[in-house]
Amino acid sequence: MAMPPIDGTIIEDTVVPARAPWSRVVRKGEMLRIIDLEGKQAVDFLCYNADDPEDRYNAADTMKLGGTIFLGKGTVLYTDRQSKLFTIVEDSCGKHDTIGGCCSAEINTLRYGVPWQPNCRDNFLGELRKFGLGKKDIVANVNFFMFVPVGENGAMGMGPSISKPGDHVDLRAEINVLAIISNCPQINNPVNDFNPTPIRVVVWQPR
Ligand SMILES: [Zn+2]
Repeated sequence: MAMPPIDGTIIEDTVVPARAPWSRVVRKGEMLRIIDLEGKQAVDFLCYNADDPEDRYNAADTMKLGGTIFLGKGTVLYTDRQSKLFTIVEDSCGKHDTIGGCCSAEINTLRYGVPWQPNCRDNFLGELRKFGLGKKDIVANVNFFMFVPVGENGAMGMGPSISKPGDHVDLRAEINVLAIISNCPQINNPVNDFNPTPIRVVVWQPR
């Protein structure tokens, strides 16, 4: 699917390097596009009511209200108090995860026997601190472009990734939203095809 042109005023257009974090407040009515530039890159994502960060993304309610464990076009991301944070208005990938959570140094050690490596939890914490938030504010997150298949018997997979170069999601902010990204550094399983790559983030005010 060709990427629709931006129709409006661009506020930020940033390439987020492989393994790096990103954050900003996306104001009500603004759009956030996340582009998987090279494909097969998981984008770990947290979001909060920017005016009251205790009211934050709730994965379980988002799945219940959406009637599916996969996020895609039309999905609304809800908070604990059922405020709408973002609506996914465009999606060229088709399936995004919100049950797999994020990687951390500890789980990498437990699952793969590796010492500390760059990881999403540490990326999240570094960005959250900029807004006066911390460990208690990390909740079950969204993983854009990450494929976590669930079988009929409940078996849960981790990849391999299905996103293609240039795949993108467009999110419309329904309130002022603090958005936090960890461009996942994982190299021990196939969610990133064992090869973390850059993404691009565009924020704009629609016409
Ligand atoms: Zn990760």
